[in-house]
Amino acid sequence: MPSSPLLSSPGTSRRSFLRLAGLAATLPVMSEGYLARAAMQTAPAASAFPKLPHAADAQSVMINANENPLGPCDAALAAITAIARTGGRYDATGCQDELTALLAKEYNLPPDHFAIYAGSSEPLQFATLAFTSPDRSYVTADPSYESGMAAAAAGGAKVVKVPLTGTHAHDVKAMIAAAPNAGLLYICNPNNPTGTLTPREDILWALEHKPAGSILLVDEAYIHLSDEQSVVDQVAAGKDLIVLRTFSKIYGMAGIRCGVVLGRPDLLQKLMVYGMNPLPVTGVAAACASLKQPELVTTRRKIIADTRHSTFAWLDRKGYKYIPSVSNCFMIDTGRPGRQVIAAMRQQDVYIGRTWPIWPNYVRISVGTPHEMEVFQTAFEKVMNNPVSA
Ligand code: PLP
Repeated sequence: MPSSPLLSSPGTSRRSFLRLAGLAATLPVMSEGYLARAAMQTAPAASAFPKLPHAADAQSVMINANENPLGPCDAALAAITAIARTGGRYDATGCQDELTALLAKEYNLPPDHFAIYAGSSEPLQFATLAFTSPDRSYVTADPSYESGMAAAAAGGAKVVKVPLTGTHAHDVKAMIAAAPNAGLLYICNPNNPTGTLTPREDILWALEHKPAGSILLVDEAYIHLSDEQSVVDQVAAGKDLIVLRTFSKIYGMAGIRCGVVLGRPDLLQKLMVYGMNPLPVTGVAAACASLKQPELVTTRRKIIADTRHSTFAWLDRKGYKYIPSVSNCFMIDTGRPGRQVIAAMRQQDVYIGRTWPIWPNYVRISVGTPHEMEVFQTAFEKVMNNPVSA
């Protein structure tokens, strides 16, 4: 891999470089942690990373960024401790090779069909930059996760947003009809922020009917939280498909960093033009240790589902309207501007997620610990019992 692929690959270098040169003039391309914080700002941003309380502040409940309050598993913590002392080198122990071997087994794919990154944000943004352009649009559901939209806009691509269906699935037929010039179609399954599923047969339909030359990107950041079947098998079948996976959600490693992109080698190579950077050995070692825990995913899926179900039971008892979810986040229809509810909850030291422009009365809630959800319930009832402010 050349150290500066932008300047050394004649086919793409000049166009890519000119597009990247324009990035500085646009909005930052943020991912969840930053988006969640930016949404908390009440005044214009003094910094892209405003000062806010942290989950470690005992009295604050942070259910605003779809994090996993369980954190890394014990085996991952031990692996982090053991490898940290080698951190003066890029990869002294060959842990990246070990993770590659484990992932090949996990996904039943040859090693050249995936690439490891420090989280899934980079491959999402790089894929968007690689496959969209001023002539090739980025097509997404609305509401959905915004990071790719920002990357597309930064690269000068049109962002085409298509409302979810009545069952809160991606409307794949409308998405394809909306952009005959699509470069990349983004399907987030389960979706962030709704935590709802798009049926596998719809995704397969989209793969068969998408515009010629376009790529389907299926973001499976939250798939382990549901019982849904992955579409990784379609990568093995050689389709124009990129699948994203992360260790940030069920594995509780958002602050440790490790993610995977799966696709045909020729597709993955297009992402490398935008950066190929060292990985944190702590993240890689923790990912290896996590993958070796056979019960981890199912145990955690149940823990989070139980907390989600008891929160939904409470919302039902109280008559609050919400969208049932299979993930670690869900949306409540507050019947008033969601931003007011967010601000009022903050006064109670409960930090909930953001709103989306298409649904200004809905707020996103992440599933925390049972205790955090009890604190949330008390605060939410108090806020909702107050009259709507002007
Ligand atoms: N994709 C989706 C749908 C997300 O919600 C997030 C983060 O919340 C990401 C990707 C990026 O996560 P990370 O970079 O931590 O892997």
